[in-house]
Amino acid sequence: NDNIAKLSGFLARFQDTGIQNRIAGVDRPGSAGTFQSISPVDKSVICEVAHGTDVDIDAAAETAKAAFPTWRDMPAVERKKILIRIAEGIEARAEEIALCECWDTGQTLKFMSKAALRGAENFRYFADQVVQARDGQHLQSPTLMNITTRKPIGPVGVITPWNTPFMLSTWKIAPALAAGCTVVHKPAEDSPLTARLLVEIAEEAGLPPGVLNTVNGYGHDAGKRLTEHPAIKAIAFVGESRTGSIITKQGADTLKRMHLELGGKNPVIVFDDADLDRALDAVIFMIYSINGERCTSSSRLLVQETIREEFEARLVDRVNKIKVGHPLDPSSEIGPLISQEHYDKVTSYFDIAQEDGATVAAGGTTLGDEGYFVRPTLFTEANNKMRIAQEEIFGPVLTSIPFSTEEEALELANDTQYGLTGYLWTSDLTRALRFTDQLEAGMIWVNSENVRHLPTPFGGVKASGIGRDGGDWSFDFYMEQKHIGFAT
Ligand code: NAD
Repeated sequence: NDNIAKLSGFLARFQDTGIQNRIAGVDRPGSAGTFQSISPVDKSVICEVAHGTDVDIDAAAETAKAAFPTWRDMPAVERKKILIRIAEGIEARAEEIALCECWDTGQTLKFMSKAALRGAENFRYFADQVVQARDGQHLQSPTLMNITTRKPIGPVGVITPWNTPFMLSTWKIAPALAAGCTVVHKPAEDSPLTARLLVEIAEEAGLPPGVLNTVNGYGHDAGKRLTEHPAIKAIAFVGESRTGSIITKQGADTLKRMHLELGGKNPVIVFDDADLDRALDAVIFMIYSINGERCTSSSRLLVQETIREEFEARLVDRVNKIKVGHPLDPSSEIGPLISQEHYDKVTSYFDIAQEDGATVAAGGTTLGDEGYFVRPTLFTEANNKMRIAQEEIFGPVLTSIPFSTEEEALELANDTQYGLTGYLWTSDLTRALRFTDQLEAGMIWVNSENVRHLPTPFGGVKASGIGRDGGDWSFDFYMEQKHIGFAT
């Protein structure tokens, strides 16, 4: 179809030259040669990718350090203009970004076309904050005139995962640049394509060479070195909780500031007084969109016993109708999972569920062997102690668990190591206030699916992370506060 022809056009240059690292505005090969980027759609090789290691990270970190004073001291209005031009560049190449992202990650065009534009919105939003970002406060005391100011922290490292990689990268890189920091970006090894497009767009928009550098490589080599490099002052990390813990240790010697956006096993709690039609739509959307490869997905359904049978029956009906297919077919809702490793992980839970005594009420099987396709899956007759209720599966797989009382629902919702998001469906406002106050999550939506509003804080508690992004919270991370007291 049309999209496949367009994609071939976009991929041709990657197939010709591979993906190089980008340091100081110049293409550089990887010091360890190349690795291959594989499409999960048909397991074909997309292109060779520069395999960066310590040497490449060192070059990029020194470059980011050298470029820092120029970028930091550029007038805010100039930096703002560049960020707006980056947003425009993303919009102009949104189709290319979306198609490449689909082919690289297996995500469907239905969702990735929006994700590309979300990347532009991230740049526009933080562009608008540039001028005020360094504003301080004046705090008068009896003997002192106290002034606080805010300065960019310095060169920072951004380490991103393979799920919606373009959008997530912009969510980190846009505020870092808006604050006045320079960046070394280490994209996930499974999804290098759109990180390359982003650095190109940024440079075409006038971002000075060396302000944003991209080094491809694996976590254990390039990623590790980035977290250890003394010139890098902070690490913005998105990925698994286990990795968050490892990189915190790696960054300890250089006292790195860390922002960790990690995993989740997020509950959606449906009470019998909820608008059940809307709740059903939201439950479906929040686990079966974006392949379920989404940190904020609600992968645990807690449903009140009084409505359980009917709600689950309606769910099964809907789940069986979800279209799994080629990611570039605009009608596909679920595409293939990212990689063989992840496919093996997700499908292993089909057996684990049954061994633990749950019922596979929908899906639970794979689809052909050309790519990493699995059917959307629903487990019922489960309890919260089972592995399918405790472990982040990170696929289109939902575990349904019944509860009787509000007290029990709260206990189950909080009985997890994670605390990223929670979703509550009830028409009882007092209950909603009581429940959300006690729910252990960084972000909660009541009678709504996840709707991002960029000025609000984004982040998790417990094993789901440390720190917040969004609004001014991003600047708290990418900047240092300074206090100056003048005797009066
Ligand atoms: P991952 O932790 O395996 O990898 C993430 C990134 O870290 C990759 O770029 C990888 O190369 C790098 N990395 C791995 N080991 C490293 C090390 N020792 N030092 C430095 N870097 C290292 O995660 P993933 O499998 O790519 O992504 C999926 C995970 O991300 C899920 O757990 C998901 O919930 C989480 N996630 C969280 C959020 C959030 O906002 N909380 C958003 C998206 C994804």
